Amino acid sequence: MLKAYKYRIYPTNEQKEQIAKTFGCCRFVYNRTLAYRKEAYEKEKKNVNKTNCNNYCNQVLKKEYGWLKEVDKFALTNAIYNMDAAYQKFFKEHTGYPKFKSKHDGHKSYTTNFTNGNITADFDGGKVKLPKLKEVKAKLQRNFIGQIKSATVSQMPSGKYYVSILVETEHVELTHTDQNTGIDLGIKDLCITSKGKKYENPKNIRKYEKKLAKLQRQLAHKKKRSQNYNKIKKKIALCHEKITNSRKDYLHKISHEIISENQVIVSENLQIQNMVKDHHLAKAISDVSWYELTRQLEYKAKWNGRKYIKIDTFYASSQLCSVCGYKNTEIKDLSIREWSCPVCGAKHDRDINAAKNILAEGLRQIA
Ligand SMILES: [Zn+2]
Repeated sequence: MLKAYKYRIYPTNEQKEQIAKTFGCCRFVYNRTLAYRKEAYEKEKKNVNKTNCNNYCNQVLKKEYGWLKEVDKFALTNAIYNMDAAYQKFFKEHTGYPKFKSKHDGHKSYTTNFTNGNITADFDGGKVKLPKLKEVKAKLQRNFIGQIKSATVSQMPSGKYYVSILVETEHVELTHTDQNTGIDLGIKDLCITSKGKKYENPKNIRKYEKKLAKLQRQLAHKKKRSQNYNKIKKKIALCHEKITNSRKDYLHKISHEIISENQVIVSENLQIQNMVKDHHLAKAISDVSWYELTRQLEYKAKWNGRKYIKIDTFYASSQLCSVCGYKNTEIKDLSIREWSCPVCGAKHDRDINAAKNILAEGLRQIA
């Protein structure tokens, strides 16, 4: 199984220069091979594939622009393959025509392939070896065992560098359990299980969000592209990264716990399109987390022989009494957090009851 391990790296100035050069060369061959392909099609109605593009890079571009030879050759080939993927996507899904890459794109990265031990991770020494860079200082928190396939070097808008190492690892499946759970996705609590466990939205994220709002207000008063403006811009980027990272860490903890403890997991199927349209802040923030959480549950379930079922959202999970099945339409009112069933008398916590119904519906569907 292929798994990616991402680490912060601390390149020296010399290494930073080489990385920047590689970003630039990748962008250059991406754009030049895209233009080559476009021209071949427009002028001669000829379809050129990725191998033709790669040959064009090796035989024409590298001769004309000698500096392309100073960077990792796999990075260039992968940039061409990325261009090809964008091209294929355009044909299959009729999305926009692949765009030329600009120097000002926020996301900078390149991928290099493993061959003859050119990529290694030294966990004791805190270093990774990468082609053309040699040893780069790294914060290697998580160990891995397996065959390295590739490495992607990236730089965030805050200026931080990362390497994501793709590894073919042997996966040890979690042991089978008889436990099942339904999960309700909420705003105050990020998710609530049918067993009554509530996972709060993490507090440290709220702290960063407040800081972010403050920085954005400050930015509004600064002259565009002035020194102070750029300084705050960088702080904002850093804040965004902190939020993204702590959110991911927290969600990994939740998804790991849910997958470890349960064999069947049921949640609602979220309509992503509707979410994006919703501009309410608290909701928008939860949306991002929900989407990421369900994504993690999905692949972790697959890895561990678990069943993850998504049921339709129009299913009235919060209105049904999970004990007798009575439908209480008064519960549509979101302010009602607790209620007693007028038929069987069962006392319900709104969200836990919903989670119980979600689980029952999921189990009914697989029965
Ligand atoms: Zn009832």
